[in-house]
Amino acid sequence: MTPTVRTRVAIVGAGPAGLLLSHLLDAVGIPSVVIDQRSRDEIESTIRAGILEQGTVELLDTLGDASRVRTVGNRHDGIELRFAGEGHRIDFPSLVGRAVWLYPQHEVLKDLIAARLAAGQDLRFGVTAESVQDAETDRPRVIARDADGQPFEIEAEFVVGSDGSRSVARAAVTGSSTGGYFREYPFAWFGILCEAPPSSDELIYSNSPDGFALISQRSASVQRMYFQCDPETDTAAYSEAQLWDELQKRVPGTTLKEGPIFQRDVLRFRSFVAHELLRGRVALVGDAAHTVPPTGAKGMNLAIADVRLLADALGALLLDGDARPLETYPERALHRIWKAQHFSWWMTSLLHVAPDATDFDRRRQLGELRSVVESDHGRAYLAEAYTGWPQS
Ligand SMILES: Cc1cc2nc3c(=O)[nH]c(=O)nc-3n(C[C@H](O)[C@H](O)[C@H](O)COP(=O)(O)OP(=O)(O)OC[C@H]3O[C@@H](n4cnc5c(N)ncnc54)[C@H](O)[C@@H]3O)c2cc1C
Repeated sequence: MTPTVRTRVAIVGAGPAGLLLSHLLDAVGIPSVVIDQRSRDEIESTIRAGILEQGTVELLDTLGDASRVRTVGNRHDGIELRFAGEGHRIDFPSLVGRAVWLYPQHEVLKDLIAARLAAGQDLRFGVTAESVQDAETDRPRVIARDADGQPFEIEAEFVVGSDGSRSVARAAVTGSSTGGYFREYPFAWFGILCEAPPSSDELIYSNSPDGFALISQRSASVQRMYFQCDPETDTAAYSEAQLWDELQKRVPGTTLKEGPIFQRDVLRFRSFVAHELLRGRVALVGDAAHTVPPTGAKGMNLAIADVRLLADALGALLLDGDARPLETYPERALHRIWKAQHFSWWMTSLLHVAPDATDFDRRRQLGELRSVVESDHGRAYLAEAYTGWPQS
């Protein structure tokens, strides 16, 4: 007999989406079991997103003191777009009355994990889901292996796939692990983490004839920077001096503060939206449902926007027996997802230099950049999307 755990909601994946969902469900009295194939240490030390929309921060405020975003994170009131040798600041508060926060994703995860464990949540690390079964019954199941490789199952009233871009839950919803709308880009980001003071107070998004660079911060002593590269680039192909040269030539006008580089990675660019987000009693949220290129800083924020909608829908279903909010979850989530897909694609094409770009393309791109920064409406569109559309 395979051991079976029973709960109301089984959540596959303890990323920002899965952990926040379990918190919101717990707040209305719905218990859940969250599993993740990685160890707690791995989850808490993987460097990923860094920019939180205002609505994301407000939702994290519901954790109370457990969320350190307002004490440790930094509010950013703008970004700089740099091109043709000039910087143009996009001032969020004056344009849309909102802001973003720089607070790394792994710090969000530390806060959420600590809060879930303090609340006595059933949160299991090192547990891998192999599949999700029986989506169209009222007792869907997660077929899993525990940390010792032993099989076990979770039987629930509802299963949520928050298991990231390589989701196994997706097959239970769309019929295949790849079922969705997909786009791949001909460039990637070479990302570095270095020990150095910040080179700027706010993020610099720089378009240059040599390609794109993003100058971002992490803390007073650690910085995160990226430059556009070929997706096949080997991270070992550059010496530290070459990396600084690549970054520096793409941000003319700023002298970067250099320091030892202690992490490097190549981040491929993909856009994806699953064909379906809901089947019977299994739903997808976050990167399991969609991925965006990182230029617009939308990935984690979009995951959290899905979770807000799904938590309300599951509350109505499991507490009041009202299935209507769940039935409209895909449509309401997709409304924002496609806006974010467009914004992420637009920021990417606005700022990167395509490998086959002609002189015409380059001059047209500068015309587009000028159309944005020289127009109140253009700057306001960017500010509104970057800080996040109000939650519906
Ligand atoms: C380098 C980088 C920079 C980024 N920058 C930004 C940014 O600035 N702003 C932004 O908003 N977004 C950014 N993103 C995107 C953001 O990190 C993701 O969109 C976000 O992590 C999605 O959260 P999630 O909970 O849906 O999925 P994930 O964070 O991917 O979590 C999924 C979890 O599921 C677990 N899992 C997977 N398969 C299984 C299985 N079979 N069984 C059990 N567990 C499983 C994984 O271990 C993982 O912990 C960035 C991403 C990267 C890689």
